[in-house]
Amino acid sequence: MEKLKNHMEYLVNEELERYLGTQEGICKCEKCKLDMKAYALNLLPAYYIVSEKGYVYSKISEMRQQFKVDVIKAVVEAVEKISENPRHK
Ligand SMILES: [Zn+2]
Repeated sequence: MEKLKNHMEYLVNEELERYLGTQEGICKCEKCKLDMKAYALNLLPAYYIVSEKGYVYSKISEMRQQFKVDVIKAVVEAVEKISENPRHK
């Protein structure tokens, strides 16, 4: 079945995991990660596509090139903001 998907979400996920892997002393619990994703996604344009096998993968690498800098910037900002003020103790 075909589904509507925001592929920006995929790119943010990917970049967040990569970036957090390089960071020490930052809470990486599911709550914080979700907050970081939401924060980053709100800074970026949504990019909806209909998921069809094959098409999706070529689209993702195309988008990865196109939005790389913006995605990295948004993720770095999200990690800073959320880790400064996590919603839990
Ligand atoms: Zn946390």
